Amino acid sequence: MPVVRFAPSPTGFLHIGGARTCLFNWLYARSTNGKFILRIEDTDQVRSEKKYLDEILDSLKWLGLDWDELYYQSERFAIYQEYAKKLLDCGKAYKDGEAIIYRIPENAQIKFFDVLRGEITIGTEQLKDQVLMKSDGSPAYNFCCVVDDALMEMTHIIRGDDHIANTPKQIMLYEALGLKPPKFVHIPMIHGEDGSRMSKRHGATAITEYRNQGYLPEAVINYLALLGWNPGTDKEMFSLKTLVKEFSLKRVNKTAAIFDMTRLNWVNGQYIKDMDIDKLTQMIIPVLREKGYINDNYDRKWLTGLIELYKTRLPTLAHFPKLAGFFFTDEIEYEQEAVDKFLKIDNTCDYLEKFAQALEKSNPFDKQQIETNVRVLVNALGINAGEMIHPVRVALTGGPVSPGIFEIIEFLGKEKSISRILKVVKKLKAKEFDI
Ligand code: GLU
Repeated sequence: MPVVRFAPSPTGFLHIGGARTCLFNWLYARSTNGKFILRIEDTDQVRSEKKYLDEILDSLKWLGLDWDELYYQSERFAIYQEYAKKLLDCGKAYKDGEAIIYRIPENAQIKFFDVLRGEITIGTEQLKDQVLMKSDGSPAYNFCCVVDDALMEMTHIIRGDDHIANTPKQIMLYEALGLKPPKFVHIPMIHGEDGSRMSKRHGATAITEYRNQGYLPEAVINYLALLGWNPGTDKEMFSLKTLVKEFSLKRVNKTAAIFDMTRLNWVNGQYIKDMDIDKLTQMIIPVLREKGYINDNYDRKWLTGLIELYKTRLPTLAHFPKLAGFFFTDEIEYEQEAVDKFLKIDNTCDYLEKFAQALEKSNPFDKQQIETNVRVLVNALGINAGEMIHPVRVALTGGPVSPGIFEIIEFLGKEKSISRILKVVKKLKAKEFDI
């Protein structure tokens, strides 16, 4: 049975690269009826923190990645001590104070097999003696990693290729302990668009940040799966379930993956667009609450309708208050560019006043009736609808783009729409705009 693990150190938040490593391990286990182990590598008692541990576990749960077994290396020091002692007793290691050090054999070749790169050979002259146990009684990473990977009977180690330099040292320790090494799959790193390793400079790196910005776990999974693995088809949308069916290590890419935020936003937008509208509304409510845009008294039906109107335009949940914020506040921020372009035409005041009158007369106040009245007005004036609609949009929303203006007006309601239009007329007459 295939056995794999994800082995995060709780010395930082779960990084996008770590999440992808975890996903690939999880997919390999789930697609082969294998076992997926989560092993917390908390041997560094100074740098390991509970807040990071909690965050890692939360992020994995949020992504939908579950584990079959969970271990903490901090609870296993006695085991590492015992194995280090074995190497001491047979003379392969020596003591330096309290520390136990492995003596590198001279003139030996270390071979291992990497599923993506084939056989790799390294001469021991390139390696230095290895610390197994530090003088404070804690184990060194390469040592406890080998002991655990062996005792937990890993068949495959799937991890980032930033660890490839550790692998020969680990192979050597397997051999020294008389244990059989697993197969290795070193997956290429994730790079930013400039080709350097993904870091804060390229955007958010912690999974929590994506969660807080309104990315959906399904979208993050879908995106990460295709970041370094290809299905061999043009298919772009993958749920965890379909990934389990289609994932194979053979299709893991051999070259670095480039993190593409535009792509992630597109994928996330697809999930938002296809989401059940009640579920989507439920997810957006806390975002609006946090902004102070709604309290306990809001019209759920109205809000659901509004979200329906915007749902094809949202790369993330956080975009909803950005794009539709003007529905929730009367403090309109007029974008200078839109003001320059659409409010300085000669007849603006006249058009806006007439538009407001047409709204006044719209009964019932729904998008069809509003549109009918506006079309009649526009025809009577002999102008293009756009000449009126553009300034109206700036008056109502503050900006140059929005969903259909008649829908916007219906959702805003008669009173608000008229008062916003007349406010701009007043401002224009008082020359309050900087045009
Ligand atoms: N704790 C190590 C890390 O987070 C694990 C490396 C490995 O997978 O062996 O990088």
